Amino acid sequence: MYDVVIVGAGPVGLFLACELGLAGCSVLVREKEPEPDSRWQAQPFEKRGLFGFSTGAFYRRGLLDALRETSADVAGHGAPAVAAADGTSRPLAVGHFAGVMLDPAKVDLAALPYRLPSPAPDTLMIRLPAVESLLAERAIKLGVEIRRGAPVDAVVQHDEHVVVSAGADAVEARWVVGCDGGRSAVRRLAGFEFTGTEPEFTGYTMVATLADPEKLRPGINATPTGMYLRMGADGTLGMMDFDGGAFDRSRQPTLDHLQTVLRRVSGTDVTLTDVRRVSTFTDRAKQTTTYREGRILLAGDAAHIHSPLGGQGLNTGIGDAVNLGWKLAAIVQGHAPDGLLDTYDEERRPVGAQVLDWSRAQVAVMRPNRGTWAARGVVRDLLGTRDGTTYVFEKMSGLSMRYDLGGAHPLVGRNAPDFLLEDGASLGELMRGGLGVVLDFTAERRLAGPASAWRDRVRYAAGTPVDGLGLEAVLIRPDGTVAWAEVDDAAGAGFEEAASRWFGRPTA
Ligand SMILES: Cc1cc2nc3c(=O)[nH]c(=O)nc-3n(C[C@H](O)[C@H](O)[C@H](O)COP(=O)(O)OP(=O)(O)OC[C@H]3O[C@@H](n4cnc5c(N)ncnc54)[C@H](O)[C@@H]3O)c2cc1C
Repeated sequence: MYDVVIVGAGPVGLFLACELGLAGCSVLVREKEPEPDSRWQAQPFEKRGLFGFSTGAFYRRGLLDALRETSADVAGHGAPAVAAADGTSRPLAVGHFAGVMLDPAKVDLAALPYRLPSPAPDTLMIRLPAVESLLAERAIKLGVEIRRGAPVDAVVQHDEHVVVSAGADAVEARWVVGCDGGRSAVRRLAGFEFTGTEPEFTGYTMVATLADPEKLRPGINATPTGMYLRMGADGTLGMMDFDGGAFDRSRQPTLDHLQTVLRRVSGTDVTLTDVRRVSTFTDRAKQTTTYREGRILLAGDAAHIHSPLGGQGLNTGIGDAVNLGWKLAAIVQGHAPDGLLDTYDEERRPVGAQVLDWSRAQVAVMRPNRGTWAARGVVRDLLGTRDGTTYVFEKMSGLSMRYDLGGAHPLVGRNAPDFLLEDGASLGELMRGGLGVVLDFTAERRLAGPASAWRDRVRYAAGTPVDGLGLEAVLIRPDGTVAWAEVDDAAGAGFEEAASRWFGRPTA
């Protein structure tokens, strides 16, 4: 019997597999596609934008250089930087809200509290198939078994284990995690409730040739009848047709259909002569009402779907995997404190709900009608300001994300800044092994004794910080979340309470 079976070798399933493998769990990943890149032949358009929360997750596991290398050829990856309002530099493109591009120079991250310089960039364009290969390779090195051409079409839960199968091919696991994407079979088979809002538009992305390209403006264009995008020199076109999501995604759109839609949304008589690749999506926004049913959990698109506007899905899914991995591992290893696994749903479902609303808010200022056009003008004006741009960037990048963990210090519940010690050790490097970390900045090393009682789960590091943000000590969970922070009098009691809450009983 496996400790954990993960269904789906997409980025979320593979990231989770690495986390569990790092913790020494026995893990099987079942993927329905026979070859690592077979789904990419059916799914063109492989570029994705990662924000600092996700690049930070790769950094904390020592994967940042490899992540950059896998996607070094992606356009925009090494784009020239511009000086930003806070004196640092940013890549040329940092994203958009409802098609209104953000001006990177107006992003003022210095206005945000508790930030420290980090090697993990705030934005990074990646090629998803390359990142999947990177994660699969690491998972295998960590002892994870990846079985391809192995779909799951039945999931049966028992008191102490779960059986997943396809026909006679059945495996048992103590825990099952459905990371099988937006049309998740695990979600359906295990009876998760999936609720939300129905789509308003069908989106199309295609690589096409136009007989008269001069009829379409470059960039993102909102029109009275929809929206179209003309990007780069490679003939990539995007369009959004407010048809109520009516286009049947099981059909391949014909050239005639695409031309009719393009003419409608652009308000021109432009002619498409050739379409080489096309994919469709909608803004259907749904989430499961729980992320856990007994021994079955969901993560990534299996738990939440929404439009790709603003590039949130992968980032949210990686956040799920990072949050779940160490908790599930602690359960498997038998040292998890009571209720630890419940905090996965408590922490991640509100984040997913916010992401769905972020996507809905964008659709609300994209509808082709007069009232929306007026509201869109207001949004454009707000995004012309430094505060407006910073607000949107902060929201979309997850920089302001904070779990409600209680705790007196405002840093508790946030993604930890990359504390650097004067001896050169950084928090990111200290976290590579997947344990929690306690940083003791006191001259007397006051936490050395108390921390030793959790040494198998929490790594102790003492030193003088280059910038300690006024703190004496910080406890960081394996997912990079600050669990406890002390400004003065960093005695053992506060630490011990926080360590017991997240890491279980101390070793005798
Ligand atoms: C055009 C577009 C652009 C996007 N841009 C961004 C972006 O810039 N930033 C961002 O954060 N997000 C973006 N996203 C969203 C992002 O791609 C997804 O959120 C992310 O890929 C979800 O990862 P996942 O692992 O949860 O699911 P998936 O990537 O869908 O992987 C699921 C895996 O499960 C397998 N599977 C499915 N069913 C079964 C079964 N029954 N048995 C076994 N295996 C199964 C599938 O074959 C697949 O390998 C974009 C999406 C689109 C469509």
